[in-house]
Amino acid sequence: MTMLETAAELATHERPPAPLRTEKFRQSRPEVVGPDCPEPPFPISLSGAVRKGFGRGGKDLGCPTANLPDESLPPMSNVTQTGVYYGYAQVSPYNKEGQKVLSEDDTVVLPMVMSLGYNPFYKNQQLTAEIHIMHNFKSDFYGHEMRAIVLGYIRPELNYTSREGLIEDIETDKRVALKSLARPEYEKIEKADVL
Ligand code: ADP
Ligand code: MG
Repeated sequence: MTMLETAAELATHERPPAPLRTEKFRQSRPEVVGPDCPEPPFPISLSGAVRKGFGRGGKDLGCPTANLPDESLPPMSNVTQTGVYYGYAQVSPYNKEGQKVLSEDDTVVLPMVMSLGYNPFYKNQQLTAEIHIMHNFKSDFYGHEMRAIVLGYIRPELNYTSREGLIEDIETDKRVALKSLARPEYEKIEKADVL
């Protein structure tokens, strides 16, 4: 690559594409990831009011993801890796108008998976953090304050040639997150009950 090409790349903020998800990766994914006790840079706390995204995550993939506002992302900036993370999240019962609209079981500390990246599948240009909470909510919670504590890293951001491959990996991510959080040092944080 010439100097000129490098400069042009920087100028247009081009990123190299995420690597392709391979069959070898699919077959070799561990069920539990990360250390038995969260290690630096974790835990990382994030919070903000849930934003509308492009409305694609949930409908397309059977996995709704609550988007954090861009201003809430700086705490993740010392984490250079884009990819999928595990941790806990908690949604406020109050909507933007200050009305209490979510019930108790929707607002406890819940396990989550977070995708940090440029969403190669959708050719997104903007860095985003999207959180899928492993819980069946009775309604949407746009505008509600959401707190998250990121505790570990699951896998890098990948590129997919099929929707089925992406959906399969998301299902594995959820299982890996639940199993990784089912360790005493992680459960302590969940049991503390408030993020
Ligand atoms: P958007 O592109 O607007 O983020 P999604 O299809 O990803 O649309 O849906 C996300 C929204 O779904 C969240 O903002 C939240 O209000 C709602 N939601 C319902 N259940 C969940 C869940 N288990 N995890 C995350 N968000 C959920
Ligand atoms: Mg979403």
